Amino acid sequence: MDAAGGGVSRVDTVVDAFHAAVGEAPEGVWQAPGRVNLLGEHTDYNEGFVLPVAIDLSCLAAARRRDDGVLHVRSVQHGAGQPLPLDDLDPHRIPGWSGYAAGTAWALQQQGIELSGADVVVSSDVPSGAGLSSSAALECSVGLALAELAGARVDPTALALAGQRAEVEVVGAPVGVMDQMVSMHGRAGSAILLDCRSLEVRRVPLHLAEAGLQLVVIDTRVTHAHASGGYAARRAACEQAAELLGVRALRDVTLEDVEGAADVLGDERLRRARHVVTENARVLALADALTRGELAPLGGLLAAGHASLREDFEVSCPELDAAVDAALAAGAVAARMTGGGFGGSVVAIVPAAQVDRVRARCRSAAAAAGFSQPVVRGVQAAPGAARLR
Ligand code: ADP
Ligand code: MG
Repeated sequence: MDAAGGGVSRVDTVVDAFHAAVGEAPEGVWQAPGRVNLLGEHTDYNEGFVLPVAIDLSCLAAARRRDDGVLHVRSVQHGAGQPLPLDDLDPHRIPGWSGYAAGTAWALQQQGIELSGADVVVSSDVPSGAGLSSSAALECSVGLALAELAGARVDPTALALAGQRAEVEVVGAPVGVMDQMVSMHGRAGSAILLDCRSLEVRRVPLHLAEAGLQLVVIDTRVTHAHASGGYAARRAACEQAAELLGVRALRDVTLEDVEGAADVLGDERLRRARHVVTENARVLALADALTRGELAPLGGLLAAGHASLREDFEVSCPELDAAVDAALAAGAVAARMTGGGFGGSVVAIVPAAQVDRVRARCRSAAAAAGFSQPVVRGVQAAPGAARLR
């Protein structure tokens, strides 16, 4: 392993792939990580707080300038994208997965950054669609490569916003900026407290290994069909609740405000708003505890977060609940669903010696219930996007 957390052999592999595709050596290799959200779900679009962790699964981008103004991105996993002229990029005509990569190039240009043409070969070990943000890893690695090759000094937050803009406007996925922010700002051994209104970032120490603990992601490998509709409905309910409460976003209300407006909100909007308000408080409480070096509150705060997502926000599902229960029963000190819900992954904090037991228990619980076999991965808190070579 090299200092930045990527395997040396992965760098060599992407350099070799670049050589085979382009016929020359790359000028450099860049890396951007995926992430897992420790706490703070459905708070981003309510202008609240999130506490994600950049992880040691990442996208590598090997790149070299071209002098014809053409951007040519190839993926070891997803094949060649279509060559696109940078001076005439139409964001609505970028096909397939190139939308994430070339879309970020387009968004950087919209920020006034002049890019040169480039050959880029990406290779990622972030599983695609598992809720670990392979998309932000792709956007941030390619965006950083293109910007640095062009000699531009990009602010990490500006680059994160370019990646988000690609995903929202080019790919058409209504995402917040958390994934890109943590991919850019992550730090080894740390979680990132992000204020989704100001985009202020605070690094929060996550000294798990010192306490014999391991960060674990349990991918249920299910995504329920109503995931995107459910997300849109939750977002709309939060916007309506904010409007009824007379504020710009649910960030601006207290639990007393919400409970005092029960008649105006009605039961469902009250529960949606209560989740957001209590979740923001949990994120801030956990960030403070971790900053003091206290790990003990993890269990209670993640449990309360999961219960709130299940009962008040109603975005959990039987597979997620079963994985949380199995992880806790097998010795995890904390576990909750992570990501938007309706499937996806669970994040757990597990004594290192119990990880195999947690894996076995999650798999047997899933088998007994007739669910897909989950994939259980130990991950480390890793650094944000950087040039490796
Ligand atoms: P997540 O970010 O949770 O993994 P998304 O649906 O947001 O899931 O992003 C997954 C998409 O990102 C893939 O369908 C693909 O279009 C793109 N992607 C991810 N990894 C790669 C890769 N290595 N090469 C090309 N495209 C990729
Ligand atoms: Mg994504």
